[in-house]
Amino acid sequence: MTREPLLPLRPELRGIEPYGAPQLDVPVLLNVNENPYGPSPAVVAEIAARVAAAASGLNRYPDRDFPQLRGALAGYLTRESGVAVAADQVWAANGSNEVMLHLLQAFGGPGRTALSFAPTYSMYPEYARDTHTRWVTGKRETDFTIDLDHALETIAAHQPSVILLTSPNNPTGTSLSLELVEAVCEAALRVDVDGAPAVVVVDEAYGEFRRAGVPSALRLLERFTNLAVSRTMSKAFALAGARLGYLAAHPRLVDALRVVRLPYHLSGVTQATALAALAHADELLAQVDALRAERDATVTWLQQQTVDGAPLVVAESDANFVLFGTFADRHAVWQGLLDRGVLIRETGPDGWLRVSIGTPQEMAAFRAALVEVAL
Ligand code: PMP
Repeated sequence: MTREPLLPLRPELRGIEPYGAPQLDVPVLLNVNENPYGPSPAVVAEIAARVAAAASGLNRYPDRDFPQLRGALAGYLTRESGVAVAADQVWAANGSNEVMLHLLQAFGGPGRTALSFAPTYSMYPEYARDTHTRWVTGKRETDFTIDLDHALETIAAHQPSVILLTSPNNPTGTSLSLELVEAVCEAALRVDVDGAPAVVVVDEAYGEFRRAGVPSALRLLERFTNLAVSRTMSKAFALAGARLGYLAAHPRLVDALRVVRLPYHLSGVTQATALAALAHADELLAQVDALRAERDATVTWLQQQTVDGAPLVVAESDANFVLFGTFADRHAVWQGLLDRGVLIRETGPDGWLRVSIGTPQEMAAFRAALVEVAL
């Protein structure tokens, strides 16, 4: 019998499975908060043309600092939020996952702490682990909002160098008030990390799906040089496959990220694809309103359902997904839906499930399957 050769794996990685939701071949995919609407033929043609043009220069490394793409992203943010954002305030990488890894690489590290409020996005502790940053979580209330006093106490107690606020939050869909984000930015200024304040990252991956009247943290950029607002083209832009995430912050914060990025991290093909998509932003975002309406209808429908005589609990959502529960055996419900061709996500606190918003037909299939399995 031969023994598996040993590898000098870092002790904290031993026995760890790679992160990721199951990628299964089923008819109704409502598990990773994708946009169900693929790009139109016109957008596909524009992407193909721009990628073809970029292909003839692929013997050369791409533009390391991608000013054209940063300018286009700044223009989009300015239009979307009404806050003037300049190209040198924008940074981008392969998905906002990589943007946030850059943030932790620059501002975390051994002896430092990153703080967030649970339940929240499950990749954050992995960025911390991979940058040798201590990971600490405060709590969210039963309605998944964050209590300001608790946030301030937790920040004062742990003196984090990075504070991650997710708004709207994954997996709960909860957005944070601008007052809370502002107070956290102010508290971050009082933190002392090697003589500097903490950085506040507001992860707005689902920002475009927020309900009317919920403002973006971009509004606070002018006042706080320690604030970064992260966005992605994976959700509202329906471009998850292209891998393009970005952030807006003070140019000095952006310059710090340029130190830790790998050279030429954003391929010429990615840059061309993103530029093509941004040229068609209105068209790609055209489905956002329909998805928000479908989300609100899903929340209303779920609120009207009962399990064993008790009404379902449904988290308010400003995102393209809804967290609902609670089920004595959520795995059985998840499996029952899967057996009927509907894949949702087993995530969040015990007993809860999360469904991404799909097309009206997909949501009808979800409702029919849930009625059969659990209601
Ligand atoms: N932030 C949050 C809150 C997310 O839910 C996700 C994706 N599920 C991301 C960031 C990362 O997305 P991407 O890397 O595709 O931009």
